[in-house]
Amino acid sequence: MSQTPDHRAMLAIAVEEARQGLAEGGIPIGAALFAADGTLLGRGHNRRVQENDPSVHGETDAFRKAGRQRSYRDTIMVTTLSPCWYCSGLVRQFGIGTVVMGEAVNFQGGHDWLREQGVEVVDLDDDECIRMLGDWIAANPHVWNEDIGEDGDCDHAH
Ligand SMILES: [Zn+2]
Repeated sequence: MSQTPDHRAMLAIAVEEARQGLAEGGIPIGAALFAADGTLLGRGHNRRVQENDPSVHGETDAFRKAGRQRSYRDTIMVTTLSPCWYCSGLVRQFGIGTVVMGEAVNFQGGHDWLREQGVEVVDLDDDECIRMLGDWIAANPHVWNEDIGEDGDCDHAH
């Protein structure tokens, strides 16, 4: 294998965060920001429901928990789900070099656009991430549509 950090091990932290969110009654999406050598800088999860705050996504939570960093070029944003436009914008704004996502099945955010911007994007296509969020969406379609900014009627495919 290459010298790159173990993306699966990093994803496991984001999955722990997603499970924590689920246990809190929230949307099971987690994320973590790592340094290039695999050092954990910050971790977090979506807390839209818990804190009535639509701005707390997994990625923004992990980013804020990491505090100020001199440079984001070598950092790795690991998230259980393809990053939405809001979080993709965060990655682009701060120049985060790599995004590792657990899946892009339940939702496709801005990861193709990030690739076009020169960000390295790794899709781990992880079964547990797909199942955990997929099950949750099936049970909570209204909250899900709210989270992804869809205000139409609830006829989600799941
Ligand atoms: Zn987001």
